[in-house]
Amino acid sequence: MNPSHVNGILSKPAIVAAVNGRFGVYSLDETFLQLQCLCGAGEFAIMISRYPEAKCLCINCGQEIKVYDISLYPSGAGYDAERGNFSPWQGSENTKATAYKVFVSYEYPEDAENEDDISWFIMVAQDPLNGLLQEVMNDETA
Ligand SMILES: [Zn+2]
Repeated sequence: MNPSHVNGILSKPAIVAAVNGRFGVYSLDETFLQLQCLCGAGEFAIMISRYPEAKCLCINCGQEIKVYDISLYPSGAGYDAERGNFSPWQGSENTKATAYKVFVSYEYPEDAENEDDISWFIMVAQDPLNGLLQEVMNDETA
């Protein structure tokens, strides 16, 4: 399950075992999904805000894909001030990439009422040059 704003742009869980093994511990039984643009490309420049929000820009076609926006989820009410103040996510000093493969996990509570009723979000980026995995965002929505 995933929020409605990313319908159709997440691959089904399969090739992300390495991501799950390292970062999935925070995410209970949810699975990481890989972001894939509708154009078929899978590398993105990453923009984040402290709001928190996260969006990915496809380096092939320029499509902007919002992957997290706390104001879109019922449990995330009460935020306001800093929305839209995006900055490029840079990664660690070991990363030379400007575009990344992106993996996301959306956790749902047992009593989730719909697909937008998420309780936790984790985003992991992989440097396509050296394979380095890094956590971009880890946010408890509720
Ligand atoms: Zn694209």
